[in-house]
Formats: sequence, structure tokens, C-alpha cells
Amino acid sequence: MFDVVAKGFRDVRMRFEGKRELTEENIDEALKDIRRSMLEADVNFRIAKNFINRVKEKALGEVVKVKAKGTQGKMEVSPGDHFVKICHDELEALMGPVDSSIVFTNPRVGPTKIMMVGLQGSGKTTTTGKLARLLMDQHGKKPLLVGADVYRPAAIEQLRVLGQELGVPVHAVEGGDPVKVCNDAIALAKEQDRDVILFDTAGRLAVDDVLMNELEQIVETTSPENIFLVADAMIGQDAVNTAKEFNSRLEIDGFIMTKLDGDARGGAALSIKEVTGKPIKFIGVGEKLDDLEEFRPEGLANRILG
Ligand code: GDP
Repeated sequence: MFDVVAKGFRDVRMRFEGKRELTEENIDEALKDIRRSMLEADVNFRIAKNFINRVKEKALGEVVKVKAKGTQGKMEVSPGDHFVKICHDELEALMGPVDSSIVFTNPRVGPTKIMMVGLQGSGKTTTTGKLARLLMDQHGKKPLLVGADVYRPAAIEQLRVLGQELGVPVHAVEGGDPVKVCNDAIALAKEQDRDVILFDTAGRLAVDDVLMNELEQIVETTSPENIFLVADAMIGQDAVNTAKEFNSRLEIDGFIMTKLDGDARGGAALSIKEVTGKPIKFIGVGEKLDDLEEFRPEGLANRILG
């Protein structure tokens, strides 16, 4: 996770070793290392540029402050540590703030609806199961899983297996009408005393109009309180571009970024919030049902900076 950017920051620390002050020159050199590692990590070009500019501005501000204070104003921490602290704060700001909130309805009014959307293969079905587990364990909820990917029997079967493992009911109709399947599930949840419904919607290999129209119809008729886009971290900027397209049509509430465990680069996780304005809510860090964590920008910034 984030190995490429982490290496860039290790180079920065080495660059500052033995140096006694921050100067414009060593700041520029360090920023070059960071820029290179961010682009290698597949961070969006504009985001990397803005990040570098923000760090530069703050670091130069420090140089000016220290100079103004004269020798008495020498920094208490080493220039390297100081520079890295600036980067830490900016990385956290780039990914944060923490927002793993889920909107719940008053159960007397009806069940909470969570709509999961995303490309095929992004990990949508697996993540639907993981989120159901989290809702049960951390919020004491009783989920109903809904197989709205009516086109792929394998997807419905996978959801049924997950439902069995979790001990929760699954509503699905192979070859049915996905909009009707989702709407029927609302009445079914009331009958079966289920307080959260998770719609596992259809994915495609690329965003297309037919898919988007179908998803829009589900949104219009069921009014989900939460729309989460499941995005595969391993596909880097493609995940960010997909997120932008989905968000322009559906007004999503946030992302669940999967496969961070296998993603050495981290470019998608570092760019998606700034590009779309929507938060990463949870991250997938493995294939098992327990492998879903709240997204903690501070922890990730620590990880990147070692
Ligand atoms: P869907 O087509 O979007 O529903 O994708 P699936 O849920 O079928 O997942 C596709 C593959 O990604 C499966 O092999 C999952 O086990 C795997 N997967 C999903 N999330 C994660 C994750 O966070 N980490 C890892 N390593 N694999 C994941």
C-alpha cells in the first residue's frame, strides 16, 4: 500500500540528513523527489502539482519566519522533520477529513437504503457483503441483500453465498427487472423486519448510457439515503475518471475503495477526493468479509511518511 510514494518521502528524508536548515534550494530538490514519486504512483497530474505548490508555499513561509527571527529562531526540530510534517499535514488534507458516516432512516418510517454502484470487477458484490457485516457488527442492523445485477446469474449466486455466510436474507430475481427488484425489496424488508437494504446493482466494464439510465431509475423510484461507488484502487486514474462520470449522473455520497491491499501505487486513493469532492468512506483491504475498514487519512499519511 502506497509503497511508491513512501519511497519518494524516504528519499526526501535522506536528502535532508545532516542539513541544518531549510533553504529554497533543498526544498526545491525535495519537491522534485515528491513530484516524481507522486506521478509514478499515478496521482492525477493536476493534484500532484497543486500539492507540491502548497507544500512549497508553507515550507518557504517557514524559511522566511526562521530568517526573521535570526539565530534565536533556529528550528527546534530538524529541517527534514519539519518539512516532512508539512507534507504530512498536506497529505492528510488531500485525502481527508474522515467521513465514514452512513445516513440511517428512522426505522419507524422504513428501512435505510444503501445503493452500491461501480464497474464490473471493482469488488461491488464482495463489498456489499462486507458492508452488511460492518452494519451488523458495528451498528446492530439487520440487513437485506438485494441482487439487482439481474443479467449475471454468477453475480446473484455470489450474493446468495455471501448472504448464507452472513446469515442474512437475499432478494434476487434472475432475469427480472432491476428497478422492480429493488422496489419490491422495500416492501419485503418491512415484512421481514429488516432495517437496512443493500442494493448490489449491475456493473459494466465501462460506463455506458444504458447502465446509467437503469441506475437513475433505481435512484428515482427508491430514493436511497446512501449511494456508494465501489472503486478499484488497482486501476489508478481510471478509477478516478469512472468516479467522475458516475458522480456527474448520480450524485454519489462517497467511495469505497477496494483492493488497497494489493495497490503499491495509491494514486487513486490520493486523487479521488480532490477530483470529485466526495470522500472515501471505507477501504477494502482483502477478500474476506472482515476486510473492510473506515478510511483514516491520518493513518495513511503516517504510513506513507514512515
Ligand atoms: P464485482 O464484479 O464488482 O461484483 O466484483 P467482485 O465482488 O466479484 O470482486 C472481484 C474480485 O475482487 C473478487 O475476486 C474479490 O475477491 C476481489 N476483491 C474485492 N475486494 C477486494 C479487496 O479489498 N482486496 C482484494 N485483495 N481483493 C478484493
